[in-house]
Amino acid sequence: MRFSQAIWDEPLLDEIKHDELFGFDRKVPAAEKAIPKGRLERKSLNIPVISERYLMQHYVNLSQMSYSVDNGPHLLGSCTMKYNPKVAEYLSSFEGASRVHPLQPASTIQGSLQLMYELERMLAAISGMDAVTLQPAGGAQGEFTGMLVTKAYFDERGEKRDRILIPDSAHGTNPASAAMAGYEVVELPSKDGMVDVALLEKVVDERVAAFMLTNPNTLGLFEERVGEIASVLHSKGSLLYYDGANMNAIMGKTNPGLMGFDIVHFNLHKTFATPHGGGGPGAGPVGVKSFLEKYLPVPRIVRDGGNYALDYNRPLSIGKVHSFMGNFAVLLRAYIYILMNGADGLEQNSEKAVLNSNYLMKKISGSYDIPYKKLKKHEFVASADRLKSGRGITALDIAKRLMDFGVHPPTIYFPLIVSEALMIEPTENLSKQTLDMLAGLFCSIAAEEPELLHSAPHSTPVRRVNEVKAARELIFRWQDFRR
Ligand SMILES: *Cc1c(COP(=O)(O)O)cnc(C)c1O
Repeated sequence: MRFSQAIWDEPLLDEIKHDELFGFDRKVPAAEKAIPKGRLERKSLNIPVISERYLMQHYVNLSQMSYSVDNGPHLLGSCTMKYNPKVAEYLSSFEGASRVHPLQPASTIQGSLQLMYELERMLAAISGMDAVTLQPAGGAQGEFTGMLVTKAYFDERGEKRDRILIPDSAHGTNPASAAMAGYEVVELPSKDGMVDVALLEKVVDERVAAFMLTNPNTLGLFEERVGEIASVLHSKGSLLYYDGANMNAIMGKTNPGLMGFDIVHFNLHKTFATPHGGGGPGAGPVGVKSFLEKYLPVPRIVRDGGNYALDYNRPLSIGKVHSFMGNFAVLLRAYIYILMNGADGLEQNSEKAVLNSNYLMKKISGSYDIPYKKLKKHEFVASADRLKSGRGITALDIAKRLMDFGVHPPTIYFPLIVSEALMIEPTENLSKQTLDMLAGLFCSIAAEEPELLHSAPHSTPVRRVNEVKAARELIFRWQDFRR
């Protein structure tokens, strides 16, 4: 038993008795005077009284029960979870950055404005777009912003388009964002894991506002016919939207602009050095081709000679999607990361991410099925189908068992078009040694006794949880479960 569990059992009660015995005074006299009698909600709170020492031990032990990219490999597919250099954390905490106030006059925050202006230019160069807004707070909000821009564009043209096309391999936020913006979502079935161009030609008509595509797609496959796809959309006046949440595969090699896309969103908290996985804060900048710039959120950062200013005078803008300029510290980390890596460094990251993914795929292909046998990009999808039909071992079992070895499991059961899917993204910063260890682990687990796997994990502080119950019955506040 871990020590933190032990202190929650008997010794905790001893603490309370001890404090009571010595007249531990829990009242705050000043507050009692300030708040009139009868206005106090309750006499006492039923919370445990515990000394700082045990409180400290409790939280330090809890922190050691959680897992992060700083603990070990983190293989989530479609959610680039890579090591974030600590220098970006350090620099983003500097006073000049962390203590600027969003209401300061522009003349006193020239450095911050310059940094954001330059970051917009960097992201434009990486994506092949003409203009970028940094405002959206995450990938999904970037998509939503992109959808509002799409709407504003067709509204101005007086075109009534009410549909967004989305492939069946898309990330779940794509249809959600399109629906939030008021569009009807039409799902496009894939063919051999890719866009079925012949089918696309049939379904694109004057009702389709845009096609949302991820390239490489969530199977890690590069849509080689993306040029044709762009022509199909553009020939009907529709737009092409790029989900660039995970840019790890293509940076410096190609870009959505070259592929014919009109709108892109990025996830700075996936590709560009902000740690994520705890729910934020993030940043989901949106890039557009020049003909869409006038619809981007206000204010725009403009440069006049050597001065930077905020321009609110954009009558066709969709308005604001976030207070002030967005999550500034996240933008700062991305700026630092891009400068540190340089163009060559970003390109090398993509090369390594793709190499690592293909290397790991090859090494586990003896034990797992690999649908769509082709070169993959930054991620690949394996299937536990054969293990399931042969020995009753599921993708969930494999994922849970990996935790026993200190490895964060990959994304499972996504994309939906692969059964018993294990979606794996090693990223660029795992060494060959780690990849070999992981490959060995995946293969040895596949050969283990099914009973051992069904009951895994065995060595984690929390065993297999009821995930459906956990998601449906969220508990948001502290409760004393001992009563
Ligand atoms: C993570 C992700 C998103 C959503 O981004 P959030 O910041 O989590 O809202 C969208 N698309 C893809 C492909 C992603 O991986």
